[in-house]
Amino acid sequence: MVIKSRKNYYEILGVTPDSEAGEIKSAYRRLARKFHPDINKAPDSVRKFKDILEAYEVLADEIKRKQYNMVNGFYKTSKSSYKTEYKTNPQHKTNESFTKEPSAEEQEAPTSDNEIYRKKFFKDSINSILDEITRSHYSQKQQKNIKNGDDINTDISISLEEAINGTERILNIMHKELCPNCRGRKFINGSKCSVCEGSGEFTSHKKITVKIPKGIKNNAKLRILNEGNPGFNGGKSGTLYITVKIEKHSNFEIDGANILYKIPITPFEAVLGGKIEIPALSGKINLILPAMTHSGQKFRLSNQGLKTNGKFGDMIVTVEIQLPNKLSNEEIKMYEKLKKMSQTNIRGNITND
Ligand SMILES: [Zn+2]
Repeated sequence: MVIKSRKNYYEILGVTPDSEAGEIKSAYRRLARKFHPDINKAPDSVRKFKDILEAYEVLADEIKRKQYNMVNGFYKTSKSSYKTEYKTNPQHKTNESFTKEPSAEEQEAPTSDNEIYRKKFFKDSINSILDEITRSHYSQKQQKNIKNGDDINTDISISLEEAINGTERILNIMHKELCPNCRGRKFINGSKCSVCEGSGEFTSHKKITVKIPKGIKNNAKLRILNEGNPGFNGGKSGTLYITVKIEKHSNFEIDGANILYKIPITPFEAVLGGKIEIPALSGKINLILPAMTHSGQKFRLSNQGLKTNGKFGDMIVTVEIQLPNKLSNEEIKMYEKLKKMSQTNIRGNITND
């Protein structure tokens, strides 16, 4: 509730309780521009900016300003102070109990009289003020449609090594909220809102450090509560969802503590066998292919997987026979020769019935 604030709105705007509406408005405009988070990147600019808006919202509204002055004791200032003419007439509404005419008596009244007045005022009218506050707060709540913040979805890419070992990323998240000045209505009293310039939105950037747990799977979603867009008028903040993509730089896949790896071999490597290099996490490892290795055959490299509970998983290598993209005429002739020479009918035990 604005009028019960303990903040000194006059101090926030750099004005005094005597300041005229025009002075308050120009102070507000100057400060709002200075601390607008799109311009001012200081870490506390958002807070300051909100304080400025809050202060202006109250001080620019004659009724709210009067209530604020009363509750916070800004009742007596200088020659241009409010005339503190209070009447116990029940028809006399709280908001009308002050007029701006200076009163000679009042100006010369000693502080103690003011104290007495203040106490009397509070005693006599506290209930009507509270009624007023409750009513206005209630109707504000009705008007103010409470809005929960939207969720934010974002992606990050990590390498397989980062997925295996866990990592940290600093994300720069752009938060969007309703403009706190016009409350997303874009216009105030028919003119474009000066804070959001008619967009109805207010954006701020926030750096968030995200811990990515080790062994995370591709497309895993991390959920960070309350880091989505902020709510408005007491609404809840949204959730930040981060989809983790493991860069496809290799044929690696993770299966529990095991690392699965697919590696292509040539037809002659499959037939003749040989030594092939496997890029394991601990460095390159030689895998000895036996002669007559089949496509899809699996080889287990012990302890070359992920470390879980102090134990290493394995790396499981699946070989796939792949043809080269281009064969020379000579190579094709060699295959023709092989075809003629071949005595095995590979589909011999497939029958048609
Ligand atoms: Zn606005």
